[in-house]
Amino acid sequence: QNILEVRNLQKHFNLSNNRVLKAVDGLNFAIKRGETFGLVGESGCGKSTTGRTIIRLYEATGGEILFNGENVQKMKGDKRMKFNRDMQMVFQDPYASLNPRMTVGKIIAEGMEIHGLYDGKERKARVNQLLRDVGLREEHAERFPHEFSGGQRQRIGIARALAIEPQFIIADEPISALDVSVQAQVVNLFKKLQRERGLTYLFIAHDLAMVKHISDRIGVMYLGKLVEVASSEKLNAKPLHPYTQSLLSAIPIPDPSVQRQRERIILQGEIPSPLNPPSGCPFRTRCPHAMDVCAQQMPEFREVEPDHYVACHLL
Ligand code: SF4
Ligand code: MG
Repeated sequence: QNILEVRNLQKHFNLSNNRVLKAVDGLNFAIKRGETFGLVGESGCGKSTTGRTIIRLYEATGGEILFNGENVQKMKGDKRMKFNRDMQMVFQDPYASLNPRMTVGKIIAEGMEIHGLYDGKERKARVNQLLRDVGLREEHAERFPHEFSGGQRQRIGIARALAIEPQFIIADEPISALDVSVQAQVVNLFKKLQRERGLTYLFIAHDLAMVKHISDRIGVMYLGKLVEVASSEKLNAKPLHPYTQSLLSAIPIPDPSVQRQRERIILQGEIPSPLNPPSGCPFRTRCPHAMDVCAQQMPEFREVEPDHYVACHLL
């Protein structure tokens, strides 16, 4: 029941002076229909590039993307159009992605027009319904994006994505730019819409604390690679990769009845430049457990327990 499968996905950018940025370098993961897959990592780790490559805003340098079992890169004509409907993106900065000269109603209806869905009257009724579904009001259709708060703009972005009835939504840090007080509301909206419509989400974030509450499964990225994939519970209870362990150790346990707080693991140094990644394991320059072999060999990304994947020589 995988809706998406990503096999050895690569996205490399050719820069000046013959330099190559391997933003995404060999990812393997699958997303099940109806689940939320959280993709986390520090900025620059390649998570946004992963999302943009999957939805074909970028063409992959290598590997395969299968959507409902079909190779996305080979889709043409009607199939490509259908894919463009089935997969939608919600961006971090809803304002930058909303045309300031279009009314909210036009913005939401635009996709329906492009895809020839519904006639004029029905489209308008659907816009009104979508506005209500995302917690806005019908009269908002006549207004312009600048008249709305950040949280409301994100709701508009979500309504626009939903207008053409996608199966799959890639949300790229959709709440990072919002006030903390608004973040939970938007997360709850995502959850409600998922329940009502059976949507599948790829939810990208830099903050593991946020993702672990909304995700069924989580992938942790570092320097263009996945280092661990597991269910949210497993990852939280028993993280196996040293990088995941350090990310989790930074999250305070809010329940005061929990006596033992996790010991904080402070990583040394900075993330290396993705233009010049370390040999062997990309995490080795900061890993508290690095061994000789880590500099020589890239650890294989493998299933160490059922549905729990890790790339580390310790395992
Ligand atoms: Fe650390 Fe080595 Fe594991 Fe990389 S492979 S995470 S350096 S122990
Ligand atoms: Mg990003």
